[in-house]
Amino acid sequence: MANWRRLAIDAGMAFFHASGAHRLAEPFTRGVGVILTFHSVRPRRDDGFEPNRPIEITPEFFEATLTHLRRRGFEIITLDAALARLREGDSDRAPFAVLSFDDGYRDLAVHALPILEKHQAPFVAYVTAGFADGSARLWWAELEQAIRRLDRIDVVAGGLRIARATTTAALKQAAFADLYARLDACEDDERLRIVAALAAQAGFEPEALTRELCLGWDELRMLARRPLATIGAHTLNHPRLARLARASACEEMAESRRRLRDELGVAAAHFCYPYGNRAAAGEREFALAATLGFESAATTRPGMIFPAHRERLHALPRLSVNGHYQSVAALDILLSGAPFALMNGGRRVAA
Ligand SMILES: [Zn+2]
Repeated sequence: MANWRRLAIDAGMAFFHASGAHRLAEPFTRGVGVILTFHSVRPRRDDGFEPNRPIEITPEFFEATLTHLRRRGFEIITLDAALARLREGDSDRAPFAVLSFDDGYRDLAVHALPILEKHQAPFVAYVTAGFADGSARLWWAELEQAIRRLDRIDVVAGGLRIARATTTAALKQAAFADLYARLDACEDDERLRIVAALAAQAGFEPEALTRELCLGWDELRMLARRPLATIGAHTLNHPRLARLARASACEEMAESRRRLRDELGVAAAHFCYPYGNRAAAGEREFALAATLGFESAATTRPGMIFPAHRERLHALPRLSVNGHYQSVAALDILLSGAPFALMNGGRRVAA
């Protein structure tokens, strides 16, 4: 996350925390519910280099999140039940919370599942078929692993050479931020090529990291059998769909659902767009998800769920639980919906 953006968020959080304004705004900004986004739930690293922290929270904070949701009156329900409520248009009920996990990280089964079962909290896991195959690539994790191992990086990304020492945690953190921003601007295939070169220098195979970090099909079969689990689709290879030709985007979406059916015997009714931001998913993808027969599709656009989302079931906003803000106070502010009302200029259903 860019530094200025974190500073803006920190300032906003401090304002809400000091003023309590979010509690006053809540009746107007909370909506009928929320879909929370989680990626990795794992203990903290002890080497001071945690560049992917925005998508990592600890098991302790995950459990605190569930407890706080219920204390604040949220009912944790399945995605199907949430959609049924939206369709019925019954907005007098307690707000709902849907828990969603992206990508199919192994730590969902290792660290999050015992907590979910202890609290009897249903969840949806959006599975990337290629991660379960051990063939698709988590380039952000590879970049971290490579920089962790290397004392110096020297790459050309986006036409620019980046050569720098990465001997300390602080230097590694800065190099990661720099390269991440540069790679984010590259096309998917160039990005994967550059990160593969770094992985080779660091002496590991990208696919080995995928197999280490993600649930394989056998593990997913066990997960899918759990009564609290819903399995959703998250493409074959985790591309930015909006950058692909229509036929390729269509294949990524439809084939990932077919793989889930073949491997797990589940009919995935729900989809989640990789990256989920404007550069990765737009109106074409929203229409595609509907045409392909998915009942819903989730973005990473930040926001709460309002009754009007009944007409936008293939562009659902979510609240990402960010590892930089692992405090109940921050969570409380976010769950009021007030920060999103500000970010979205007061629009409940963002354009
Ligand atoms: Zn993802």
